Amino acid sequence: MRNNTSRYKLYILFILPIFFISYLLYLILYHKYNDLENINTFNSSAKIIKTASLLLHEIQLERGISSGYIVKKEENPYIKKLLWQQSQTDKAFIALQSILDKGDKKLDPIVSEIVKKLQKRKYIQEKILKKSISFDEEIQYYSDINTKLLQIIYILTSKFNPDRDSLLPINILQHFTEYAGLERAIIYNQLLSNHFNENLAKKLIYLKHEQDERKREFLNSTSEESIQIYNKYYQDSIAKELNICREGILNKNLNHNSAKRCFQVSTKHIEALFLIADDILNSYLQEISLTQSKVQYSTYFVLFMSFVSVLFSILFMFIIRNLLKKEDQYMQELLIASYAFDAQEAMAVTDLDGNVIKVNKAFSQITGYSSSEVLGKNINILQSFKHDKTFYKYMWDTLKKSGVWNGEIYNRRKNGEIYPELLSITAIKDSYGKTINYIAQFIDISDIKKAQKLAKFQAEHDFLTGLLNRRSLIRRLQEEFAKAKRHHFQHAFLFIDIDNFKNLNDTYGHEVGDKVIVALSEKLTSIVREGDIVARLSGDEFAIVLLNIGSSEEDAVDGSKKVCQKIFESLKEDLHIQNHSISFGLSVGVKLFPDGEKNINDIVSHADKAMYQAKKTGKNSFVFFDVDIEEKMKSKMLLEEEILQAFENDEFTFFFQAKVDVLTGEIQGAEMLVRWQHPHKGVLFPDYFIGAIEEMGHIHKLSIKALHKACSFIETNQYQKTLAVNISSKELLFQNFEDEVIEIISSYDINPMLIELEITETAIIEEFDIVVEKIKRLQEFGIQFSIDDFGTGYSSIEYLQELPINTLKIDKRFLQDCSNNSNKELIQIMINMAKVLKMKIIAEGVETQKQLQFLQENRCELYQGFYFSKAVDEESFKSLLKKGEEK
Ligand code: C2E
Ligand code: CA
Ligand code: CA
Repeated sequence: MRNNTSRYKLYILFILPIFFISYLLYLILYHKYNDLENINTFNSSAKIIKTASLLLHEIQLERGISSGYIVKKEENPYIKKLLWQQSQTDKAFIALQSILDKGDKKLDPIVSEIVKKLQKRKYIQEKILKKSISFDEEIQYYSDINTKLLQIIYILTSKFNPDRDSLLPINILQHFTEYAGLERAIIYNQLLSNHFNENLAKKLIYLKHEQDERKREFLNSTSEESIQIYNKYYQDSIAKELNICREGILNKNLNHNSAKRCFQVSTKHIEALFLIADDILNSYLQEISLTQSKVQYSTYFVLFMSFVSVLFSILFMFIIRNLLKKEDQYMQELLIASYAFDAQEAMAVTDLDGNVIKVNKAFSQITGYSSSEVLGKNINILQSFKHDKTFYKYMWDTLKKSGVWNGEIYNRRKNGEIYPELLSITAIKDSYGKTINYIAQFIDISDIKKAQKLAKFQAEHDFLTGLLNRRSLIRRLQEEFAKAKRHHFQHAFLFIDIDNFKNLNDTYGHEVGDKVIVALSEKLTSIVREGDIVARLSGDEFAIVLLNIGSSEEDAVDGSKKVCQKIFESLKEDLHIQNHSISFGLSVGVKLFPDGEKNINDIVSHADKAMYQAKKTGKNSFVFFDVDIEEKMKSKMLLEEEILQAFENDEFTFFFQAKVDVLTGEIQGAEMLVRWQHPHKGVLFPDYFIGAIEEMGHIHKLSIKALHKACSFIETNQYQKTLAVNISSKELLFQNFEDEVIEIISSYDINPMLIELEITETAIIEEFDIVVEKIKRLQEFGIQFSIDDFGTGYSSIEYLQELPINTLKIDKRFLQDCSNNSNKELIQIMINMAKVLKMKIIAEGVETQKQLQFLQENRCELYQGFYFSKAVDEESFKSLLKKGEEK
């Protein structure tokens, strides 16, 4: 966003001219105001001058008449005129006084002197009327006043008048008038006096001279217009006649008539001068009022302009503010865009030809090209040449059509390295929808690709050896099986198992065990041809597929044999791992295929069987799958069919083997053991068929049958002892096993406490937590649990502590090999352990008195075995029970 100082600078930049204009307007206004002031001063000065001139003129008239009056001997015909003139002078004086009252205070001292003089007027006028005043005194008196009036006029025309030039001629003209007035007074005096006065004659000459001077001065200094006014009022005839009068007086040859004419002409003379001055002043005043209105008008105009400029300034500021606001928004958008541009994703903007205009940091990081290195260059510098022309053509076609293209592409870094990227190209369009630029956004997906590759490898390979795992092997086998059938290839499948690997692990530890596995995997890989398949199936099981090992069966047998021999040859040398010298054997089952198998499961299971055959025939050998094994398979299949039939025909029955008190020999309960009433083979024992039923996945069916049998036996016989049912390890893990058991037991009118389930350790260990939960739930219902064949599995005291089991059942092999002391000790330990864990203990497989005695001595609670009774049918068991009761 724009910072504030630059914003203020911008404001100032715009405000400055406004200030400047305002200042100019102020100056103009100030000037105009001054002008107005001056005009006003000028105006009032002109008015005062005009009034003062009038008074001056009236006094000149009065002075002239008075001068004549005081020297006339006979009755004076001028008295009326004098009195009238005096009243005129008074009026002019009052007018001046009233105008001066409003006027300039600077004139006050002169005015007060004039006033003082004029107050003396009554006294002077009386003296004049009485003719008791001398001519000189009279002249002196009036001339003093006029001198003061001239002073006022002078001051106003010069000192206080800014427009000096215009009014100065008036001052000269007034002096001119005063000289004329004085001259007129002397003329009056001399014409009416009887004797000639030499001094006055001289004065006349002087006054004439002064008038000529003033006239010249006035005409030189005044305007053309004023000269016109002068010429208008002042006729040459006046000057001529006045000169005749002057000469007449000086030559003393004037008669009475000429005296009268001289009076008139000298009066005309000063009146003309007065009118000139008055008219000039009038024209001035007219001009002034014109100028005044002009100035006023222009002042209003300036004021209006100021107002308009202020309005415009406000408007400008408003516009600037809005512009700045818009720019701020734009800047903000740019800022956001720039942040977005510098995202994790690499970005490059190009023109329509693919030339780079802009790239971000991520672009440089991924490609290795700095921004300055790519700017202006074509984006195809990143091209890896891993894609063909059709790829790029499709890309551009899509981009042109839809404006977007997304996909994976290989590009080349600056250092030449080719890397995969996830690329998205978008066309940037202008407001008319025309493409103007392209923006490419991408991320480097090398790491993702690597991780995917690794994950794929891990999913397909065994983590320890890096060989194919079982799943991949099956997939490959499927492919090869299909191919072989089509092309009549002969392949061989080798099923390899390390002999006694468990012992090896137990002896040297798992770490060594793992190393043996790795070493073997390397050996196997090195022996087979490239292209053959080597896989690890599980712990110590491997598989090899020898592809196209021979053109005929015989060839294939030979080829396979050779490989097997090589394998065994390689085992002759001991492995040296962690200071141990280790040797081990292998059992290998070989199956050639295709050989009429239904599917690849047959191949694997045939090889597996051959491998078992090899194990049985003495280990460290290889066996080819042959018809013998096939025969066994066939008989197994037959068995399975028979088992299905047996289920249908209800050929499975249950025998009862009693569980007896060691000390008293009383029957405490029984275990139910399955027997097959075979229609042709007679009674068959579980060893013959249980494994097959388990493999077929029907064992649960059998258990359910046993459970029903147990319940119905308890119910119908009012049996009050426990009845145990064998549960296979797998079915315990069935999801609704508990519900099913509870539902069955609940469907009979029996005490659930009488039902006991025998489970083996293997079932518990595999899914310990789940099994514990299941046992607990069934125990809550009342069912008892015992661990069958105890001592053959893990027998860990730790899990026994946590296991909610009621009875431990010592496996029969401990008693059967009772001569072995260690077995005796183990039995003792197991008995004690059960006591500590508050469990019941039962020993199975008791066949002799001696064995029973041993149990009695060691305080074992119960036993089960041929010594007391074999497993017998229901009826026999009932009579056993009866016999026991009778005792
Ligand atoms: P097991 O649960 O350990 O059963 C005890 C086996 O020992 C029974 O063999 C029994 O007849 C035999 N036996 C009892 N006393 C003696 C003796 O003093 N000396 C000798 N040598 N053997 C004695 P059987 O009935 O052949 O059962 C074998 C195995 O088959 C059983 O072992 C059990 O694991 C399984 N089995 C039997 N019936 C069922 C069944 O209904 N369901 C399930 N899941 N398995 C069953
Ligand atoms: Ca059992
Ligand atoms: Ca057992």
